[in-house]
Amino acid sequence: MTTIKLHNTQTRKKEVFAPIDPDNVRMYVCGPTVYDRAHLGNARPVLVFDVLFRLLRHVYGADHVTYVRNFTDVDDKINDTARKRKEAGAKGTLEELIAERTEETISWYHADMDELGALRPAIKGLQTEEAEPRATDWIGAMIAMIEDLIAKGHAYAAEGHVLFAVDSYANYGALSGRSVDDMIAGARVEVAPYKRNPMDFVLWKPSDAETPGWDSPWGRGRPGWHIECSAMSFELLGASFDIHGGGNDLQFPHHENEIAQSKCAHPEGDFANVWMHNEMLQVEGKKMSKSLGNFFTVRDLLDQGVPGEVIRFVMLGTHYRKPMDWTEKKRDEAEKTLRKWLALAAKKPIGQVSKSVIEALADDLNTAGALTALHEVYKRGDGETMAASLQFLGLRLGNMAYWVGDDTSDLSRFSERLSNLRDTAKATKDFSELDAFKAALTAFGVEVRMSKEGVELFPGPDFDPTKLEGLL
Ligand code: AMP
Ligand code: ZN
Repeated sequence: MTTIKLHNTQTRKKEVFAPIDPDNVRMYVCGPTVYDRAHLGNARPVLVFDVLFRLLRHVYGADHVTYVRNFTDVDDKINDTARKRKEAGAKGTLEELIAERTEETISWYHADMDELGALRPAIKGLQTEEAEPRATDWIGAMIAMIEDLIAKGHAYAAEGHVLFAVDSYANYGALSGRSVDDMIAGARVEVAPYKRNPMDFVLWKPSDAETPGWDSPWGRGRPGWHIECSAMSFELLGASFDIHGGGNDLQFPHHENEIAQSKCAHPEGDFANVWMHNEMLQVEGKKMSKSLGNFFTVRDLLDQGVPGEVIRFVMLGTHYRKPMDWTEKKRDEAEKTLRKWLALAAKKPIGQVSKSVIEALADDLNTAGALTALHEVYKRGDGETMAASLQFLGLRLGNMAYWVGDDTSDLSRFSERLSNLRDTAKATKDFSELDAFKAALTAFGVEVRMSKEGVELFPGPDFDPTKLEGLL
């Protein structure tokens, strides 16, 4: 069995991955807050952990891997977006506008990520709604966890809020390597009179009549963001699971808080054994983010005609622990390379995924190394391995007409022409026109096979359908 090594943020080392239960390898990745279209930065964790998901399925079998990614559908940003829409004249109650917005955003998210070739999360190979839990479906579990934390002396209720007491958990800050004092000095903490320590964070907060809320022992209110992931991962994956992922920006405070909550509520478990964080997609040295306004959405790119495979290829070109920029140069190079590779793979039976691709990915998801390995496969002209490897990497999404032309129908027009020219040549004994046409096809990357039975054309690795058009 392939040995997978992964870099663990918790130990700051690359470690051999040993799942708790190889029959059910379990991974949790923090999903989006659903108030707006995903920007390109949001697609990075999706693609990074999609590659990991694919690798785990390859090594352990698809039915033995569980991947859960949540939707945060209760959040002040969502409420604010709905409030603005209401002020702008949208019809309906705030609650209705919120529901409309979250539903719409979830369907956008699915459509956009599907076009990037990202597999939907799944429980033991089964794509169910549980694999993409919505926070609002798990409020009961969150309330139960908060009650448990209060009972165990790790949380306290104050003025309709419930807060986690960071002083009650000695390891608070271990993941990101900070002490509570450093955090207070460095972070913008919300100072509130009801907090015992300024770093104490909210597990539950009160909702006014208009804002979404649920009845609880502390009055009508809503959960804090961090408790969502702790409660849902416990319900769906248990007190100990294998991998927890997300962007680097979530390390502190979100993941630090998830660890504190989960370890204190379930001291019998380890929570997550391996913590993985992708670096940020940047724009001119700064994190792409909604708040900085320096973003464009995945849908913007798709609408401009950039194929999902190209976006994915560019993302895979940089290791996940390195910051990266999206540039037009990278986009153009990706398009060119993919066109060659997909043409080589077109019409070839699916062979075996390249061993070098698997080896590169097993080394802490060296996606750039996997692409380098495919350059070698291309040089060897091994279309079957190329087809299997591109499919495995999610780079062969089926819109082959775009990549290699609608080759069956298009090429049939060329072979018809070729047959006619051959007939004419036989009759006139003048082969010059036939030979010129054959040479042109070859020059544009089409392999020509002529026999007594007829004429057959095959798109080769350098096949360029755009140039061919001018021939007829
Ligand atoms: P959010 O909806 O802001 O919570 O983000 C959803 C996911 O996208 C989280 O895993 C974030 O870490 C990740 N993310 C946000 N911005 C970027 C970025 N510029 N580059 C890479 N990942 C990002
Ligand atoms: Zn989370």
